[in-house]
Amino acid sequence: MTPEAIHAATLTLDTHIDIRWPEPPDPLAEGPMRVDFPKMARGGLRAAIFIAYVAQGRRDPEGHAAAAARAEAMLRHIRSRADGRARRFCATADELEACFAAGAQAVLSAVENGYAMGHDLDAPARWRALGACYLTLTHDGHNDLADSARPKPALGDAPAEHDGLSALGRQAIAALNRAGMLVDVSHVAKPGMLQAAEVSRSPIVATHTACRALCDHPRGIDDEQLDALRAVGGLAQITAVPAFLRAAPPGQNATASVEDMANHVDHAVARIGIEHVGLSSDFDGGGGVVGWENAAETAGLSAALLTRGYGARELGLLWSGNFLRLLRRAEALAE
Ligand SMILES: [Zn+2]
Repeated sequence: MTPEAIHAATLTLDTHIDIRWPEPPDPLAEGPMRVDFPKMARGGLRAAIFIAYVAQGRRDPEGHAAAAARAEAMLRHIRSRADGRARRFCATADELEACFAAGAQAVLSAVENGYAMGHDLDAPARWRALGACYLTLTHDGHNDLADSARPKPALGDAPAEHDGLSALGRQAIAALNRAGMLVDVSHVAKPGMLQAAEVSRSPIVATHTACRALCDHPRGIDDEQLDALRAVGGLAQITAVPAFLRAAPPGQNATASVEDMANHVDHAVARIGIEHVGLSSDFDGGGGVVGWENAAETAGLSAALLTRGYGARELGLLWSGNFLRLLRRAEALAE
């Protein structure tokens, strides 16, 4: 098979794409964002998880209420991007596979930053009812669930606050498990990430990360964390953020390419096996590398991986097969 043929036959799923909020541009028009539906069609990107992202703010009732309102409004907006015909909103693994088989574009959603739930353990069930498939437990800055890999001193953060997960964070994971949502440990500091792997009944995922063995950035995960993902059947999605992939020369911005992404994929696959590795862009949230600058260039990453010896089966696992396995597991364990 040619690279083009493999790519055309593969359910390509990007597990982490930010949107502009408020006032998102029309995703039906070719616009300024790295991801819109025309670019997805040109690049052969068949499915996108758009993120209801909430920046970390003050941890008081007003802050939590505002964060919850924003996340819910964004989830409703993301769902409205699908018309049910050319674009289908998919909340489950079965819906996603049916959408691909029907030749439609797939729209999925997730919430980034457990700050958006405040102390409300019913929030995951409400988000799931709106179709969200995962929650990223923290963003930059600690919240009441867990310590962040990147504390925010401006918010008064100590280097560590909970020594991993708080009691509320453990309850939140149980609520996510009950709702059938995946637990995303991207942005979570290492102790909490390892605890989440143990606590969660369904395998955890890092939806946008990279390998610290190749680039020692706090947002990456080290080999011990990769091993923990394998031990619980979880997943590390290598993402296209240059600073996570290749250290910048002093005083310069980081740059990276699809070859750097392939290096991180190779490392993770060699360490924990291809069943525990996947791909994401973090487009419109800091992602974009030479060869995969936007959704229209999605085949560029597939081509780089093909030259490393990954074939149709492996590309299928990396692009969506492994994530679908986790989604199905989370759905099966929901109560
Ligand atoms: Zn993020």
